[in-house]
Amino acid sequence: MKALSTEIRRVATPYGAMEYTLERKKVKNINLRVKESGEVYVSAPKRVPVGEIESFIISRSDNIRRAAEYYAERDMKKAQPSYENGSALMFLGRQLRLELMTDSREFIALWGMALEVHMKDTSDIQHAKELVEGWYERQCSDVFHDLIVKVHGKFLKYDVDLPQLKIRTMRSRWGSCNYTKGIITLNRRLIEAPRHCIEHVVTHEFCHFIHPNHSKDFYALLSAEFPDWKASKKELEKTVIL
Ligand SMILES: [Zn+2]
Repeated sequence: MKALSTEIRRVATPYGAMEYTLERKKVKNINLRVKESGEVYVSAPKRVPVGEIESFIISRSDNIRRAAEYYAERDMKKAQPSYENGSALMFLGRQLRLELMTDSREFIALWGMALEVHMKDTSDIQHAKELVEGWYERQCSDVFHDLIVKVHGKFLKYDVDLPQLKIRTMRSRWGSCNYTKGIITLNRRLIEAPRHCIEHVVTHEFCHFIHPNHSKDFYALLSAEFPDWKASKKELEKTVIL
């Protein structure tokens, strides 16, 4: 069915601003669709006011976010880094070189820029991948947890409780804050960025406990608690491409 009109709009949702394409069509109801690219399409009859359409989107924002992340995670699994001897991997803003070493014992050791994977059969790339992923998982958990505790120290004065940390792979965002449930979710891929860039994201999410939106007050608070946030944001976007 041909659209009568199409426009790209933005709506504020509990997960931040969401862009969507609004098509006016000869349909009976408001229809919402998340494309595999993560884009949100809404078709609605001409007579339905934008306010009603946007309330509908907000009421579905949880589902939209889940659908977009489902597609993003699926895409991401297609584009895996390589785990062969000599492969380059990013970690805390540095480029590490993967070294697969034959050993009777299995363990991983980081020596300067070399990530040594000690394993029985170095030709078993699939197993090397599992070992490295397990190591990354532990690093994410340690580094992110430390930063949550550190930043929480600055937010004690605002009466913010220590949030629960969740780690996920997300393509469109670095982190998110569920301010009603007290949960901060961080993108697993942040571990590739320098520590201060991760701290900026953590501080950003903490600010949402006080200002759920991206208002002027939100940025005033962020600037007070992390004055260098603009530079960190730029550096992060340059280091890790989502
Ligand atoms: Zn935000």
